[in-house]
Amino acid sequence: MKKVGYFNGEIGPLEEMKIPMTARSVYFGDGVYDAAMIANGVCFDLEDHLDRFYNSLRLLDIRNFDPDREQLKNELLRTAAQAEGDVLLLYWQADRGSWPRQHRYPPEDVKANLLITVTPKKLADIRLPIRLITVEDTRYLHCNVKTLNLIPNIMANQKAAEAGCDEAVFHRGNAVTEGSYSNVSILSGGKLITHPADELILPGISRKHLLELARGLGVECQEREFTLDEMFGADEVFITGSTTLVRRADTIDGRSVGGRDKELFVTLQGAYMDRVRQMTGLDIPYR
Ligand code: PLP
Repeated sequence: MKKVGYFNGEIGPLEEMKIPMTARSVYFGDGVYDAAMIANGVCFDLEDHLDRFYNSLRLLDIRNFDPDREQLKNELLRTAAQAEGDVLLLYWQADRGSWPRQHRYPPEDVKANLLITVTPKKLADIRLPIRLITVEDTRYLHCNVKTLNLIPNIMANQKAAEAGCDEAVFHRGNAVTEGSYSNVSILSGGKLITHPADELILPGISRKHLLELARGLGVECQEREFTLDEMFGADEVFITGSTTLVRRADTIDGRSVGGRDKELFVTLQGAYMDRVRQMTGLDIPYR
């Protein structure tokens, strides 16, 4: 199958799958998700994604999700095994079950719903720089939870697309937080600076890898707030994400940015891509 869908144990072609109208995800977006890249049949960093998924469930107090980690992993891999393609996006979500609409949780015996999709993913040419816009971050204080509620992200991303750009960078006042689907970092004076992993950003798994790799290479990393001015004046501005990988920006709001420490940027991007290659065999050009 090209695109595979799964719902509570049933697998089929994505276009033919159906979910109940009473699923909590339908009216409330009352659920959490995660998404990872599969290349050559290997899921890059599934364990980290599972950690974050179970943490999101805990933070949303979704107690009725039954599968334990091994069972969930089996369901994910069983579904993925049905899909065709060298590079795939593995997406899964759990909502608080199906029950007539009411704000309080459904009764305890109602089980959470598990939905999985596996779709082909065309990776972008990561040698090409991307264009960004800035958007005021009007999201709430739970951005560390990967919930289904992504309205501000969707609207910011559409704004970026309508401006002919690739991604929107959120800022709260003068402080840069993250992108609509990625984390944002800067290089400045040989240092990597990125927003701390608190409740204002999603703790990205690629961000985590990059910090680890940068530290391993002796690059000073600062997990602290940085301002819009710092970003516009940075040596490099870049975004990270599981299928976005690591990409540098050359304009923000139509102004030229970065391009002053390509060597360090390519070293970090290369270190990340080496790790991806070691784990999955995926070898795409970055230099
Ligand atoms: N920030 C947001 C808002 C995201 O939606 C994502 C990915 O979906 C990321 C950051 C990057 O996270 P990861 O590196 O785990 O893919």
